[in-house]
Amino acid sequence: MSDDPTIFEQIVAGEIPARIVYETDTVAAFLDANPLAPGHTLVVPKDAYERLGELPDEIAADVWAAVQELTPRIESAVDADASNVGVNNGSAAGQEVPHVHVHIVPRFEGDGGRPIHAVAGDRPDLSDDELDDIATAIEAGK
Ligand code: AMP
Repeated sequence: MSDDPTIFEQIVAGEIPARIVYETDTVAAFLDANPLAPGHTLVVPKDAYERLGELPDEIAADVWAAVQELTPRIESAVDADASNVGVNNGSAAGQEVPHVHVHIVPRFEGDGGRPIHAVAGDRPDLSDDELDDIATAIEAGK
């Protein structure tokens, strides 16, 4: 956790206004201030863990339960056809606020958006050996 309160901690504390749509003891959700689509919502743990890997298991479960509950609610509220759900996990991935937050972005047929595959750069050309090594490293928790 960081020392200075993040903007999302300030929202949770009521120090910065936000359109809060969900709140439990551990999790809050509010409309994104610069929405990519109507209903774009951020789900956050109330405490400011910076990266996904820092979340305690029970908080991670609470965050995901909120995402699962809110996603259909949000789609229904804005009459969306679908949604993208994602996390910018670290600055190299585009994370600007150092406080884990899950984006729920409603999607509409013909909205001109792209799938989540569009977030990365050029696709790497990986050999079978490289894929095996990567899979082994992930499995081993290196
Ligand atoms: P990220 O790039 O994943 O860190 O996204 C940060 C998100 O926080 C952006 O989509 C911003 O529009 C959103 N945001 C920043 N400040 C606020 C705020 N005060 N209230 C609601 N959303 C915010």
